[in-house]
Amino acid sequence: MSAPAATPRGRLAPSPTGALHLGNLRTFALAWLSIRSRGGSVVLRIEDLDGPRVKPEATAQLVADLRWLGFDWEEGPDVGGPRGPYVQTERRPLYTAALERLRESGAVYPCTCSRREIEAALSAPNGPADEGARYPGSCSARFADEAAARAAAGGREIAWRFRAPHEEQHWEDLVRGSSAHDVQAGVGDFVVWRGDAAYQLAVVVDDAAMAIDEVLRGDDLFTSTARQLLLYRALGWRPPRFAHVPLVVGTDGRRLAKRHGDTRIARYREAGIAPERLIGWVGSSCGLSARGSERTLRELLPRFSLEALPRERVVLDEREHERWFR
Ligand code: GLU
Ligand code: ZN
Repeated sequence: MSAPAATPRGRLAPSPTGALHLGNLRTFALAWLSIRSRGGSVVLRIEDLDGPRVKPEATAQLVADLRWLGFDWEEGPDVGGPRGPYVQTERRPLYTAALERLRESGAVYPCTCSRREIEAALSAPNGPADEGARYPGSCSARFADEAAARAAAGGREIAWRFRAPHEEQHWEDLVRGSSAHDVQAGVGDFVVWRGDAAYQLAVVVDDAAMAIDEVLRGDDLFTSTARQLLLYRALGWRPPRFAHVPLVVGTDGRRLAKRHGDTRIARYREAGIAPERLIGWVGSSCGLSARGSERTLRELLPRFSLEALPRERVVLDEREHERWFR
């Protein structure tokens, strides 16, 4: 894996599909702290390829929330930079070019299956809950070429799937340590394109083109890292280092969501709560500051280290939340 660059480059990569809340604030804060604590630069990239789920006003709100919280970045949609554009829907030519390379090398194949067909082809249709069923490879040898697939699809959209090898991908995770995941056993041959670049392809193209060498994100994306490592290898690019941090959960152990109360950053701001209260909560959740203390991101920098980060999931107690952010 890559040697650390002189000045590390990290990124914040929000999807404008909803409001910034305490859960993603913690992940973004850790990404920012990790890079800034080593004097590196931060890139803001808006991941808006998820068509139907993207809310048009969410990007401006995200930027405003992050600024209010004290985040800064050297490159991003609002400040520009040499490796832009910093909004995924403006980067489509790069994704098309990468898909073209994967097609030329035979790393991907066309797939005409609908979700229902995939589930019907499986005896036990229980893939990882968030990712749907494992793709059984039905189309891997079905079509002689793209034209044959298009003819078979009869006007329906075709997808491009990456041929995942039967082997584990290994990486040294900066938070979880020695890590491994078998993509073929997990999701199987995975989609890199369906009408548009899929997340897996877009994120690899962008992180490579933006010279990102550290990706710190929530551990819901842990298994995605193995897929992304396969794409880096197929495209001949050097992967960044990865760090997966635990998500914030409610006392029921489930990922922070509406049912746990309103934790949107905008609502604290509207209620007159200082950003330092929220950053103070992040600090205390990492053992960097006392419970209930107020902090700025910069004040958390001196004591920050990825190695010292707690590995457990962070539980936001609904009652404690009420007390803190009244
Ligand atoms: N845009 C993704 C999200 O908000 C993050 C992708 C990544 O960090 O790789 O979940
Ligand atoms: Zn198929």
